[in-house]
Amino acid sequence: MKFGGTSVGDGKRMKHVAELSKKYRDDGNEIVLVTSAFSGVTDALLKNAKEASETGKTPVIKEFIADLTKQHHQAAHDAINENGIVEKVTRELDARIEELEKALIGICYIGELTQRSIDYISSYGERLAAPILCGSLNSIGVSSHSFTGGEAGIITNDDYGNAKPLEITYSLVKERIEPLLNEGIPVVCGFIGENEAGIITTLGRGGSDFTASIIGAALKADEIWLWKEVDGILTTDPHIVPEARSIPVISYIEAMELSYFGAKVLHPKAIEPAIRHGIPVRVKNTFHPDVPGTLVVKDEKKSRDIVKAVTVITKVALINISGAGMVGTIGVAARVFTTLANAGVNIVMISQGSSEANISLVVDEAHLDKAVKAIKAEFKNGIIKEVTHDRNISVVAVVGAGMANTPGVAGRVFGALGKAGVNVIMISQGSSQHNISFAVSEDGAKKAVQVLHKEFGLEREK
Ligand code: ASP
Ligand code: MG
Repeated sequence: MKFGGTSVGDGKRMKHVAELSKKYRDDGNEIVLVTSAFSGVTDALLKNAKEASETGKTPVIKEFIADLTKQHHQAAHDAINENGIVEKVTRELDARIEELEKALIGICYIGELTQRSIDYISSYGERLAAPILCGSLNSIGVSSHSFTGGEAGIITNDDYGNAKPLEITYSLVKERIEPLLNEGIPVVCGFIGENEAGIITTLGRGGSDFTASIIGAALKADEIWLWKEVDGILTTDPHIVPEARSIPVISYIEAMELSYFGAKVLHPKAIEPAIRHGIPVRVKNTFHPDVPGTLVVKDEKKSRDIVKAVTVITKVALINISGAGMVGTIGVAARVFTTLANAGVNIVMISQGSSEANISLVVDEAHLDKAVKAIKAEFKNGIIKEVTHDRNISVVAVVGAGMANTPGVAGRVFGALGKAGVNVIMISQGSSQHNISFAVSEDGAKKAVQVLHKEFGLEREK
């Protein structure tokens, strides 16, 4: 079970997490807890490290350290019932915070911040949270020890800021953590690991889900539970459709299609170890523990729901590249994509009709200017006659594995949009048939989502 930053937002919430975990253990489950930093702490650590390197102001660091100490002391008091344990945990926190302070002051003097130092500094969020959670469990009678990622056996490559676990991780975690399961609930820091030299690395922002997935895979868990502040993966954005529901069961593939489209609940990278080892992942709400949440499983339930969710992605722009010279000319697409890659442009969606006379792309809006500039420069006096763009668009995606080999889904999608008077600007469906994406004008996006959510009955209880 992994609890996210909001779930462990302060001491009271931490206590709730400890009690909740105890309840599941008392029900006969073996549990490992993975904790995030308190919400906002990772951001604050990163911000202060950056400021330290840029301004070299040690008083600012002192102030930050005082705030951080106060916040974590308070949390320890609120999360832990027993004075003796509060004192022990507080001493542990103080020792860690002292190391952190030294590191930040070092950065002030050196005036330099490497990715390796960033990982070291940002690891403190989780390293301060874990002892408190562990103390909270101890104070309600559950035996528990806390581990950093490295101590638990998560050994990574040297890619600081985005480290990947080495294969040895899976046997090490099993060796170190499994024997503890019958005596209590081990607590592991999310987000961090260490490389083979024993230097702290981080797994990327939001990396606690990744940690949980690695540990669950190593222990061949029955399920990996990711506790967040939402009732699971939703059929759509509830700001757009208030009747949006949480999806009871979804396949890995569908979940991945959704996360690409900004559902932001699950990152594909984070569940990769779970997918590879075939372990189901459940997304649950810490604040509504009785709601079953969403179970993400390997096999696709084709027959049941054709469409599982409708999502929208904003802050994108469309580029259209055209010219009669493109027809039948080999290598135009290759040049377009290479040029955009070299310019550091992220491409969200692609479409080319069989006339080959134009290629349409959707890119992140922030990348639009450099994208257009790069393409114009590459094809200065050549086969591309026109490069136009449109900022005023959104992409809507209809997702569901059941769409594969089911005739008539596209018909229903575009029929419903037509009836509602929504104009479709560009369309793309990969041959996996799990996702139909289309671009509409920004003002049409909301209506498109509402119409399709209704068309496929997603508001109905399953
Ligand atoms: N604390 C880390 C972050 O904020 C990891 C996590 O919360 O999952 O990115
Ligand atoms: Mg976080």
